[in-house]
Amino acid sequence: MNRKLVTVRTVGEVRPIVGADRVEVATVDGWTVVVKVKEFSAGDLAVFFEIDSFLPAADSRWKFLEDAFIQWNGHAGYRVKSAKIRGQMSQGILLPLNDVPEVVKIIVDLEGKHGKKEAAELLSSMSFADTLNVKKWERLDGIEGGNGKLLRALPSFISRTDQERVQNLPGVFKKYQDEVFQETTKMDGSSMTVYYLREDSVMLELLPQINPEREPTAASVGGRFGVCSRNVNIVEASESKGGNFWAVARKNDLARKMAELNRSIAIQGELCGSSIQANFEGFPVGFHDFFLFSVWDIEKQKYMQPKEAEELAAQLGLKHVPVIGYRRLGNIATSVKEILARAEGKGLNGRKREGIVLKQVDGDFSFKAISNSYLLKHGE
Ligand code: ATP
Ligand code: MN
Ligand code: MN
Repeated sequence: MNRKLVTVRTVGEVRPIVGADRVEVATVDGWTVVVKVKEFSAGDLAVFFEIDSFLPAADSRWKFLEDAFIQWNGHAGYRVKSAKIRGQMSQGILLPLNDVPEVVKIIVDLEGKHGKKEAAELLSSMSFADTLNVKKWERLDGIEGGNGKLLRALPSFISRTDQERVQNLPGVFKKYQDEVFQETTKMDGSSMTVYYLREDSVMLELLPQINPEREPTAASVGGRFGVCSRNVNIVEASESKGGNFWAVARKNDLARKMAELNRSIAIQGELCGSSIQANFEGFPVGFHDFFLFSVWDIEKQKYMQPKEAEELAAQLGLKHVPVIGYRRLGNIATSVKEILARAEGKGLNGRKREGIVLKQVDGDFSFKAISNSYLLKHGE
């Protein structure tokens, strides 16, 4: 699932902020956004730009944000982040639908083609980021920023590790209240995937021929072994020797252990340590390791159940992200507000944690709740 950064949504309630006469609060699904007074009413359609949207300076609609433009990835623009305005949490930017004729036109076309009802349904699953030239802001300090020629595309047989935010899941507490979820701490490192393909796997043909000079560890085991960041397959013998990703894979002897296990799987976890994500997690200098959070079964093309993934981590001698417990969702939280309060809390090393991730134990459904105070502190 790709994050839908720019969407058309219906404004929920609009309420005043005590002591403020120029701004008020609008809700969109589980989000609250501070907006100009009288700009929105409950039930209006609006275009919502989620946090992490990078709005291009070249679009004159963003001129009002000019003072806060930054340079990112070679362009000027505004990075949408969480803020507290007049004591009120504000996340995202809301534009009246009429200010975005590009989107209005798409809606009109859709309605002409499919009728109003079906158009509304289609609309709810669309993102307009490309239409409006909005990119997803992310830190560019990782391995993905450099060494481009030494990286390859993420193999197509691996599922990306994204999680949806609870604010975008209206109805989730009702729908899943009786389902059991595994609750884990969300660690703020870098997504890392390590895969092994058995010698007889049909997926082998999706990978380029192995080059023993550039992939010495992989060439030393049968089958196929690889290490990936969130978006790319990292070549081991690159200038950076695969950086911390490969160093951690080697330190845990994963090529040998996964070959021995002899199952076509991709283990997914968070690479954490002192040089990752500004070390908000507070690890000792020089420490880096992999914290497993899920296992993708490549043959079945589905995730293993969380319990099985925990067992596999133990079997491979790997760390697992902290497991808070297994409970009915109804016993964990019954509203966005409650789960956001719960997301506040301490991480592995006693620092403020990024949040929590909830995975349904017998299904493919999962989501995250990010601590608002963490967002305010670390600026995402
Ligand atoms: P971004 O801000 O770029 O969206 P993110 O880390 O918040 O990055 P999400 O898709 O929002 O990315 O959240 C899923 C990511 O969270 C995974 O890719 C993984 O790297 C990370 N993660 C950390 N801890 C866990 C955990 N316990 N369970 C699942 N994912 C986790
Ligand atoms: Mn992350
Ligand atoms: Mn994030």
